[in-house]
Amino acid sequence: MRIAVLKELAAGETRVAATPETVKKFIGLGAELAVETGAGVQASISDSDYSAAGAKVGSRADVLKGANIILGIQGPDPKDLSGFADGAWLAAGLNPFGERARVDEYARLGIEALAMEFMPRITRAQSMDILSSQANLAGYKAVLLAANAYGRAFPMMMTAAGTVSAARAFIMGVGVAGLQAIATARRLGAQVSATDVRSATKEQIISLGAKPIFVESVAGIEGEGAGGYATEMSEEYQKAQAELVSAHIAKQDIVITTALIPGRPAPRLISDAQLATMRTGSVIVDMAAESGGNVEGSVSGETKRIHGVTVIGAKNIAALMPADTSALFSRNLFNFLSAFWDKEAGRPILDEEIGNAVRLTQGGKVVHDRLVGQN
Ligand code: NAD
Repeated sequence: MRIAVLKELAAGETRVAATPETVKKFIGLGAELAVETGAGVQASISDSDYSAAGAKVGSRADVLKGANIILGIQGPDPKDLSGFADGAWLAAGLNPFGERARVDEYARLGIEALAMEFMPRITRAQSMDILSSQANLAGYKAVLLAANAYGRAFPMMMTAAGTVSAARAFIMGVGVAGLQAIATARRLGAQVSATDVRSATKEQIISLGAKPIFVESVAGIEGEGAGGYATEMSEEYQKAQAELVSAHIAKQDIVITTALIPGRPAPRLISDAQLATMRTGSVIVDMAAESGGNVEGSVSGETKRIHGVTVIGAKNIAALMPADTSALFSRNLFNFLSAFWDKEAGRPILDEEIGNAVRLTQGGKVVHDRLVGQN
């Protein structure tokens, strides 16, 4: 069983899908590891670190030769893939809706493509969940980006020259990233409030010492919903939410938006008119910018000044902390493959529940029910 670890070629991608720690663990299972030259450099892992862990380091062509499993952070360009074994697996964050043409091409190449972002939200798969591991660190970093761009301090400071007042931070969307953003903003000394459509988050917000801001007049989502995800809200709810946000946002200095709805564009939470009510010098980090944005006017990968407010359109925040995010992503991949490792076969054999959830292509065809019939 040969496992290939590729150098990420996408612009701005700094992470790597295996670390010396996971290389050793895979070798412990009986696999042979091949890592592309320079794959870990941006994540502070040298080629010699991989060699010392037991991996063979070489060119892309060498690494792919006879590979049974290819590991990546993002899906590689199919044009860059050749020489792998028949029916090789590709396990990575494949962005199946955004990169649909690539999925078709993986099928054509005979690759079994496994989309790690489709990992089901079940207890036994928690340690395999790349969305959670990356969102957690991204939520932390988003607050630091905001603090850096803010021309004032987060904590209240009493100095001989007078008092600096605490920043007010508002976190919109309290999933994995939002919870970490609340905790980080609190640690930095801000006064924190937060909102979500899922009522289950109210208690979590309070337990982190922040103030919940919720639409009370129209029902939100009770409990955790399907897989814990949000759905699109009714028009009535959206109107009530807009009014609530308008009243609250004018008093905020920092806003972190994280609201996502799987398979749909991100919900619009802050309009241009609401932005105009904020204090000059306030900062918004739109963590949903890559999915269309929670904030009107935000652009993925750009920082804009709109009505005196700095609006940071976040793009791949996880890549700003490649050492830690790579370590967690790599463990997610190892936890996934090792959980299904069949000692006799010397390779992983997926079960139906998780296999069907993540497998996009098999036997030359696109097989995932969320993709079949969609082009
Ligand atoms: P996400 O990234 O899909 O969305 C971020 C947050 O935005 C969510 O809390 C969502 O409710 C919220 N949101 C959506 N529309 C909104 C709107 N219009 N206004 C305000 N907020 C809105 O969410 P996530 O981080 O993936 O987490 C979702 C849930 O899944 C959480 O409860 C989390 O704990 C759970 N989860 C479970 C597992 C597991 O069991 N394996 C793994 C990860 C997350």
